Amino acid sequence: MTEFAEDKAKGSKQRNWVGLVPYGLNEQHPNNYMEIADSIWENHDNLGYAYRILRDGCCDGCSLGTTGMHDWTMKGIHLCAVRLQLLRLNTMPAMDWHRLEDVGSLSKLSERQLRKLGRLPVPMVRRRGEKGFRRVSWDDAIDLIAGKLRELDPKRIAWYLTSRGLTNEAYYAHQKVARFIGTNHVDTSARICHAPSTAGLKATVGCAATTCSYSDWIGADLIVLVGTNLANNQPVATKYLYYAKKTGTKVFVVNPYREPGLERYWIPSVTESALFGTKIADDFFQIHTGGDIAFFYGVLKHLIERDWIDHDFINRRTVGWAETEAKARNLSWQSLVSGSGLSQVDMFRFAEAFGKARHAIIVWSMGITQHAYGSDNVRAIVNLQLAKGNIGREHTGLMPIRGHSGVQGGAEMGGMPSAYVMGFPVSEENAKKFAAPEKWGFEPPSWKGLTAAHMILASDRGEIDALWQSGGNFRQTLPEPELVTRALGKIKLRVHQDIVANQTMFVDPADTVVLLPSRTRYEQRGGGTETSTERRIIYSPEIPGPRPGDTRDEWEIPVMLARKLDPARAAAIFPWHDTQDIRDEIDRVCPTYKGITKMRKKGDNFQYGGPRLLVDRCLTPDGMGHFSAISLPEEKVPEARFLLSTRRGKQFNSIMLAEKDPLTGAKRDDIIMSAEDAENMGLKNGDPITLRGEHGSLSGRVRIDRIKPGCLQAHWPEANAIIPAGRLDPSGVPDYNATVEVVAGSCLAAGAATNETEVAA
Ligand code: SF4
Repeated sequence: MTEFAEDKAKGSKQRNWVGLVPYGLNEQHPNNYMEIADSIWENHDNLGYAYRILRDGCCDGCSLGTTGMHDWTMKGIHLCAVRLQLLRLNTMPAMDWHRLEDVGSLSKLSERQLRKLGRLPVPMVRRRGEKGFRRVSWDDAIDLIAGKLRELDPKRIAWYLTSRGLTNEAYYAHQKVARFIGTNHVDTSARICHAPSTAGLKATVGCAATTCSYSDWIGADLIVLVGTNLANNQPVATKYLYYAKKTGTKVFVVNPYREPGLERYWIPSVTESALFGTKIADDFFQIHTGGDIAFFYGVLKHLIERDWIDHDFINRRTVGWAETEAKARNLSWQSLVSGSGLSQVDMFRFAEAFGKARHAIIVWSMGITQHAYGSDNVRAIVNLQLAKGNIGREHTGLMPIRGHSGVQGGAEMGGMPSAYVMGFPVSEENAKKFAAPEKWGFEPPSWKGLTAAHMILASDRGEIDALWQSGGNFRQTLPEPELVTRALGKIKLRVHQDIVANQTMFVDPADTVVLLPSRTRYEQRGGGTETSTERRIIYSPEIPGPRPGDTRDEWEIPVMLARKLDPARAAAIFPWHDTQDIRDEIDRVCPTYKGITKMRKKGDNFQYGGPRLLVDRCLTPDGMGHFSAISLPEEKVPEARFLLSTRRGKQFNSIMLAEKDPLTGAKRDDIIMSAEDAENMGLKNGDPITLRGEHGSLSGRVRIDRIKPGCLQAHWPEANAIIPAGRLDPSGVPDYNATVEVVAGSCLAAGAATNETEVAA
């Protein structure tokens, strides 16, 4: 019996309790029951509707995916505080639109205060020099936009789509309209999270999606969590881990900071866990920020040395092994130790467990992707899984876990500047294929568009004349907010299609800014679908309830524009009345989504590709898995400098949910520092410090915690003030890290750049 088999046999008997104090009352952790009570109070004016959304809708939060309050991985309730806290966005009444007539007063509000004003109710327009917006009819708003777009070169028009709440149907409609107008500058917020996963996976195994299912976690020998904080971003995933650990699964975490929520968690809907807590991580590997490639090379090197690799799989199913093996063998232990920040012994310990595990899954998030070498980080993970044949089998796989309900579907429905739907690359050949009457009936542009970060850089150079944003809040989410504000202020026409107001809307118009109020996914005629991380396409029905203001369906708004621009052609190209018509077209145009046309009621779903991809062959042109002999990143942190990375607190994307993170106890302006570094600098908990980087400074307070010495973490998006704008992974994702100097004291007195503490939707 192997070590893992023995553990599995013992698994169901293992308690994994944190302690005997009921509900972990002596520990720092979220009080989920209080959050439920808060949510009930917050939605008390619309409780029936709130309940119907929870009971029947597909959660619009993260990417785990639900039907009502259930899923396809486990029995029992699937509900978390994130969903409850986002609920108000769907249930609140319309705001008084007169408030938008003077943006001066609104500019002083925090993003949270702005959100609380209520839903955007009516179309509004603001011209250059005007102090605020004025109400217009839908007809006038669309007329105005169409008139301006007609005068513009399509290559100077850009389109951005958020990843929370939007449905597949809305993504499909938006990108098709953008391409009908003639632009490929279409992007989604995958561009600030998982685009390197898409690039790295596509190049190595040929698919840009997770290869396994969440249910594969339960029964795996080993789950490796890299650069991810499930307890914060996908809270119900901790319940999956609870059940996995009951079967004897080991959980390893690779991260510079010992995330408290990955050490232990109190799962409110599991009595045992709610009472005594659940120890989640069996082992932590505290690498340096950016030390992933060196660490995984070290593990691979030891796997090779001990011959813990799957030769048969490598011979049958992969190419490029010889180069990668030689690269791993030739890298010195010294370079791997200094590159990763961990000792040889640590890498051996990981390699032994990983090498002996028959079934291992690697799950990762933005700790991996948000680097200038994010795609290479993903390739390093793929190398490990290929070396062990950990794809295509039960309880094995590659899982770039998405944080938002729309990330997977948004990219697959064509929200990408370099690909039409389902990753068909932008090219003359594919453009001609999409021109066929049974596809789109018009030829989309065949030039490669700009990513979101590049759209802003191009705007700053004066190269973008119009930007349509459905959701999103660039001033908060992209590096260097001052540059972003300047760039937005140069765009002649900005269209903000959204459900609530945010500060990006109030950037002074270069010429015209139009606000278009949208409906939520639960309000759309015919419902809508989303695609979860595990490739499950899930139907979310229209939920009966109030419809605030004079709003329109998300998909319908860009289509109104297309119909205004060219009524005759649009009648044939966009013959849709509701989302069912769009699903019928997706079913025809996207072979992978075949079957979406049948989705009409709560619970309808299917997992494209089945529970596991890559069972017999990879989806690369040659059918093989490709090893990558990548190089170690050349990131040298000068003496007396720190490597700062950004982290999420109690928030959903840039929607701030609380000033204090209940998982860590950290406040928004806390900067996490190791005890060793604090001692060396003579700092203690709560001391004011200033981080100085090449691109600004950031004030905060020392919070001593178990982070790797030499590394710091500050909350995003406040820390964007110090993150350089142009440093990007080749896939276009900004590198949300910076080398900084730490100075005792606050920079506020010196009038330097400050960080905001309230951010936006
Ligand atoms: S874990 Fe994610 S999908 Fe599940 S309820 Fe929470 S936010 Fe929604």
